[in-house]
Amino acid sequence: MSAMPSAADRDRVGDWIRLVEARYPRRDAQPWDAPGLQVGDPEDRVHRVLVCLDVTATTLAEATDRDADLVLAHHPLLFRPLGRLTTETAPGRLALAAARAGIAIHAAHTNLDAGTPGTTDPIVDALGLDPDALAPLERVSAAGKHKLVTFVPAEDTERVLGALSEAGAGVIGAYDHCGFRVRGTGSFRPSPEANPHLGDVGAINEVTEDRLEVELAPRDLERAVAALWQAHPYEEVAYDVYPLEVPDSASGKGLGRVGELPEPRPLRWVADRVAGHVPAPHLRVAGDLDQPVQRIAALGGSGDGLIGAALAAEADCYITGDLRHHPTLDARTQGLALIDAGHGAVEGAALPRVAAALAADARTVGLDAEILTSAAAHEPWAEYRPAAPEPPASEDPR
Ligand SMILES: [Zn+2]
Repeated sequence: MSAMPSAADRDRVGDWIRLVEARYPRRDAQPWDAPGLQVGDPEDRVHRVLVCLDVTATTLAEATDRDADLVLAHHPLLFRPLGRLTTETAPGRLALAAARAGIAIHAAHTNLDAGTPGTTDPIVDALGLDPDALAPLERVSAAGKHKLVTFVPAEDTERVLGALSEAGAGVIGAYDHCGFRVRGTGSFRPSPEANPHLGDVGAINEVTEDRLEVELAPRDLERAVAALWQAHPYEEVAYDVYPLEVPDSASGKGLGRVGELPEPRPLRWVADRVAGHVPAPHLRVAGDLDQPVQRIAALGGSGDGLIGAALAAEADCYITGDLRHHPTLDARTQGLALIDAGHGAVEGAALPRVAAALAADARTVGLDAEILTSAAAHEPWAEYRPAAPEPPASEDPR
């Protein structure tokens, strides 16, 4: 849609994905998350980039109006694998519309939460918490990852590991192609119906095999198993998948932040600061407005699931969005004050600084596309103030 070829004609979608993922590596995403390129071709050209919270009809129209050919969204448009790409579902409709308009979509979600600038920054800034003295509320963790174990004739191990790695398995921190193998003896007896790669039908055969193990995120399991069947020489492939419970990665990164105010302040002061910095349509506060708070836990976005982490961090006050009734009540009984500042309001307030950081990164590596922040509303909610109360219904004169 650009009128004249310009220096920006050099940029490709793939260049921008590498730029975003250099600052916000996919390995920092939660195992259930779906970050990365969701719609588009890495070879397509990029002239203008739109940073937004959600891919909606509004933000896609904005991308079209502002001539953006790449949308960098925080929330993934496509979360679960689609069986078909049609207009029957909302994500399908939007993905099709983007593809037809020549707009690529990339998502950086929990990997962005864990990074700098991250989605909790607006709260950190509102309260003036010392950025150097912050800890993550919940560390990036391998819990929720899987281990895939398979048994491969020794001469094929390298090829199978390569195929699994191509499918996204075998990534640990900043390392890929991570696998472990130990040699042993596999045995099997092919039935007359079998068509064995090696060994004799009807006889018990023994073969030197490697037990090969790789780690992977659940999102990559289906792809990795398909790659395993493709690369493995056997007619029947033996493999196991184990859930992992490995607590922390060494990166020190994670979701949310915990920090301390220089001195205790009343909860009212904290609420006022948050309200002054985050354009939330409303702020909900659970707690005694005069109770002193000093240790703060915060998470931009949806923090209901990390109330336990805020309690474990011995926070006096937890600031987040999407807080539900019962978890909030339970937390109150344990003395935790809570502020719901709005999921979209806090994360939306983080977008301009994310865009500015990416623009600076782009200049450093010589990418030319212009980067814009969406002007769309980030909160679906609006505060409702009732009009003047209805007069009471008149009494029936009888
Ligand atoms: Zn969010």
